[in-house]
Amino acid sequence: MRRLLIDDNIRGFAIRYQSQMETAYPNVISDIECLKDNLVKYNSWKDSNGIKDYFNEIISDYPALLALEPNDWDIQKYMDLEKKNPGFLKRTVKYGEVKKTHKDLTDSVYKRILFCLRYSEARLILGPIHREMGLKTCVYCNTQNAESAENEVFYEMDHLMAQSDYPFLGTCFYNLQPCDGGCNKRKQTKPCDFQLYVNNSVTDLSPFKLKAYFQNIGPVTSMCDKILFLGKNGITTSESEAYDRTFHITKKYESHRDEAAIICKKACTLNQSGIDAYEASIGYRPSREQYIDYIIGIPFDESLIHGAPLRKLKYDILSDLDNSGVIKI
Ligand SMILES: [Zn+2]
Repeated sequence: MRRLLIDDNIRGFAIRYQSQMETAYPNVISDIECLKDNLVKYNSWKDSNGIKDYFNEIISDYPALLALEPNDWDIQKYMDLEKKNPGFLKRTVKYGEVKKTHKDLTDSVYKRILFCLRYSEARLILGPIHREMGLKTCVYCNTQNAESAENEVFYEMDHLMAQSDYPFLGTCFYNLQPCDGGCNKRKQTKPCDFQLYVNNSVTDLSPFKLKAYFQNIGPVTSMCDKILFLGKNGITTSESEAYDRTFHITKKYESHRDEAAIICKKACTLNQSGIDAYEASIGYRPSREQYIDYIIGIPFDESLIHGAPLRKLKYDILSDLDNSGVIKI
């Protein structure tokens, strides 16, 4: 829901990921070489040199590909090479044989590339790095945890550029976006241009807004009628509509109206008597920041929304209540 501008801090994480991958898996290039040779040897191609060229590009671009920034992705180069054998990445091919039985080993080309690039293992290296970066929720919906532990990653990593079309980016740090199974499944069949990492500071980092509608705004009851998913100015945009169509965000937030009501209720208790009572209970007059922390449990800083589920909702509600003068501090 919120993009990250690539700065030196993020670059540091990407470089660390690249170096951990290189140290842990030094045979990636020789495996890609071997796959190239076997594909040419065991299968017939319209243009076998085109196959070799495609793999030679991966070999020459690796390991830089692991931390290659979106601005530097040379998508066209690979698409042009693919045209020499149209659709070959999704073709089921023979990539080797079991020596004892001469049984054929078959799979899709792109899946073998992902295998050689060690995609499954890359996930395990990336999990703790995402955690350290504060990426702990699905970046598409902000309702689900993206949890990881040592040697286990419990969330999915969506390939912004689909792995079946652009397998050379299959383990690129900037192409892997933490998400939950539901969002990943929905995105697969529909277009989505939400790119988590962006080079361009002109790109709107926060293009969306969750707008909660309340009945009886006040400290006693604050029923939330509905939560809409809109563009950042509070109106539907073509981008927000397309995003909602893909990820069903409005529907997803139907079940989070109670949480929204709690935020509203807490914020409304901050009238003068509420402030006095709070001050009396802790012995000093808290700052505005401390009150806000009391209401939403985090500082009023949207860059922190990926740290826990529903932070985007909390942030947007507080922002609305603040702008409409409900918060009296
Ligand atoms: Zn999600």
